[in-house]
Amino acid sequence: MAYVITEPCIGTKDTSCADVCPVDCIHPAPGEEHADESTMLYIDPSECIDCDACVEACPVDATMAEDDVPAQWEVFKEINRVYFEQGHEAGEQMVKEYLAAKA
Ligand code: SF4
Ligand code: SF4
Repeated sequence: MAYVITEPCIGTKDTSCADVCPVDCIHPAPGEEHADESTMLYIDPSECIDCDACVEACPVDATMAEDDVPAQWEVFKEINRVYFEQGHEAGEQMVKEYLAAKA
């Protein structure tokens, strides 16, 4: 399993989760490439150790265990994974498409 960042992070992005993650698997953290322009933060599922620290830290309840992701945010499991497997542009493009489909 892994933890996933979901829709409420979009536009909030206060980075508290990245501060508490013990394995630094949440990106782009402050100071990293793409930190300023990214729409949200993403969890690398291959690095996450399911410690739950990011859930407590997030002020808008955007982080959650994969198994707890509600149906309407299901695509965020793929969005988080794609961000790390295919890169920043691919992940951000999926977020754009998600928001466009909702509008
Ligand atoms: S569950 Fe723990 S390891 Fe996984 S992203 Fe959250 S803080 Fe990091
Ligand atoms: S703490 Fe929540 S809102 Fe802030 S960056 Fe992390 S997931 Fe996004």
